[in-house]
Amino acid sequence: MNDASGVDGLAERLVLVQQSVADAARAAGRDPSEVTTIVVTKFHPPSLVRDLVALGVRDVGENRAQEAAAKAAEVGSGTTADPLRWHFIGQLQTNKARIVRGFASAVHSVDRPALADALRSDESELDCFLQLALTDDPGRGGVTGADLPSLADRVLTTPGLRLRGVMAVAPLGEEPRRAFARVREASEILRTIAPEATAISAGMSGDYADAIAEGATHVRIGTAITGKRPERA
Ligand SMILES: *Cc1c(COP(=O)(O)O)cnc(C)c1O
Repeated sequence: MNDASGVDGLAERLVLVQQSVADAARAAGRDPSEVTTIVVTKFHPPSLVRDLVALGVRDVGENRAQEAAAKAAEVGSGTTADPLRWHFIGQLQTNKARIVRGFASAVHSVDRPALADALRSDESELDCFLQLALTDDPGRGGVTGADLPSLADRVLTTPGLRLRGVMAVAPLGEEPRRAFARVREASEILRTIAPEATAISAGMSGDYADAIAEGATHVRIGTAITGKRPERA
């Protein structure tokens, strides 16, 4: 059986992408183990997450608070010894921060102090990535270079938040490699403030090799692994 839309197709695409991520790391003179592949499962049913877990995936990405919370409630978060990590990668309103807090182990889209405040917790640790604005369009979200140090400071001083690094989405209409080079520069600046915040979340199905060449430690890959997304869940 080799049905491209079934589990066999999924397994095949997963292995191909994993090999290609490892190749990109080696081509950049890096160890493949430095790059975590987050499989983006937004809009897909919980059954797809279960199939991925059965294939060994332990990091999944979602971009809508309620949809993700429902899925995480159904699929679970694994065990302490073998966790399934839910990464929140979408724009997040402060009034949905509690929902995301309930299931996520990481939020990649921290882009303003008010969101850091809303994510505070005295009970558990949440990994935070600061989402960078790579264009001048304020509608796309992300913190500007000028505001990066103060946002980093807010995350560092907020209980329950662990600053991991930066995150970015390459803008349309620009060579991705050039955009990711700016992400690397922002990461270097961040590390002068927070030396342990070394992570770079960058790269999607179409541009992950470029992101890895510029130092990405976390790639967020959807369609190249899952196939076409349903219109909406
Ligand atoms: C949907 C999404 C991805 C994955 O995109 P693909 O092109 O399907 O790989 C990555 N990052 C973010 C922020 C997304 O919203």
